[in-house]
Amino acid sequence: MTTTRFAPSPTGHIHVGNLRTALFNFLIARKAGGTFILRLDDTDPERSKQEYADAIMEDLEWLGLTWDRVEKQSDRLDRYNAAADELRAKGRFYEAFETPTELDLKRKKQLNMGRPPVYDRSALDLTEDEKEALRAERGDGVWRFKLEHERIEWHDGILGDISIDAASVSDPVLIRADGQFLYTLASVCDDIDFGITHVVRGSDHVTNTATQIQIIQALGGDVPSFAHHSLLTGPQGEALSKRLGTLSLRDLRARGVEPMALLSLMARLGSSQPVELRSSIDEIIEGFDLSAFGSAPTKFDERDLFPLTAHIVAAKPYDAVADEIRALGVPDALAPRFWEVARENIMTTADLSGWWDLCRDGAEPLIADEDREMIATAMPLLPDPPYDDTTWKTWTDAVKEATGRKGKGLFMPLRKAVTGMERGPDMANLMPLLQKVRAKD
Ligand code: GLU
Repeated sequence: MTTTRFAPSPTGHIHVGNLRTALFNFLIARKAGGTFILRLDDTDPERSKQEYADAIMEDLEWLGLTWDRVEKQSDRLDRYNAAADELRAKGRFYEAFETPTELDLKRKKQLNMGRPPVYDRSALDLTEDEKEALRAERGDGVWRFKLEHERIEWHDGILGDISIDAASVSDPVLIRADGQFLYTLASVCDDIDFGITHVVRGSDHVTNTATQIQIIQALGGDVPSFAHHSLLTGPQGEALSKRLGTLSLRDLRARGVEPMALLSLMARLGSSQPVELRSSIDEIIEGFDLSAFGSAPTKFDERDLFPLTAHIVAAKPYDAVADEIRALGVPDALAPRFWEVARENIMTTADLSGWWDLCRDGAEPLIADEDREMIATAMPLLPDPPYDDTTWKTWTDAVKEATGRKGKGLFMPLRKAVTGMERGPDMANLMPLLQKVRAKD
């Protein structure tokens, strides 16, 4: 059965880049009627925090990306120990004692000689006595997986045929000197034990995949299908890594982005299929095709989320936003009309407060020089609030009569004087909401 996982480390909030990984794995599982596992990669006790795990779940729930079960790596240390023993017994695991400084020096020498900076395996030549002596002097070493020096090949669900020379990769460290298991070993054990059939993750994991394939094989597991999606860049192709902090899912949610806007965009961005606003996750599942994604870096522009969000927001019935509107202090008698007027003129419901400010306090008038005289004539013709449905017509008729203006030359200056803007809601509908018109002062 198709089984996928999303495997964040609970060391921070998840962002749009993580969402891509989560979404693809979710969609593959759901499309196949399979299982989607949320796996918390929390083997680092210092950096992993329950509050981040909770926040990740909250973010996924907000989006409707439901998981079938949660697994925590910190619960599975016995299993990782057993796997380490198995690798030792099979001669695929060795202890190495180089300090970070020594490793750095080796790398620099290799680079100077124009060679790739691959670990030279000198620890393999240590005798038992030498290891004892090093252990006494430096404490426990790290444990490295001994790669088989052959080509590692797989058909990648996005990148196509991949072939990596294992000799060009350092034997990966799977256990740190302090005994902490590293993600690579834990991930491999989990993928085997949970029957993971498909793994989609960022292309920064391609080398990991090569080594993980050999570890899975060494442990007698089935190798899942791998696919590596391209990494997101900013709109200009610039690295997004530094800005990802402001592109966390909770940030986007706080800014009023609608879940379906985000999902609709991310399910298509970087693929040959067009971005289409979907109204349900089922539609997204149906329209998802992993093979349509390309390997080129994917440009992400957060501004694309807002027109999509605006569509969703404008279609909401009053009941869906009534609480938010009331919280702004809009009187109940005006609230439904306020929604009718504002809905077409906002990107997110966060923009409602600006419209309510305008209704309550009036706007700074915008008056062009050539309209000054006309506005001076028009304002005394407008009574004080409250207004009703007939106010706009009665007023503009009177101004027309008094100034001889008509059409755009009549309506636009009045709109700008009342709202301070060139565009906005239908004025006849807006007038009854206005508690103040500052141009009258
Ligand atoms: N915790 C890893 C990460 O966030 C998981 C990678 C994987 O999917 O195996 O990069």
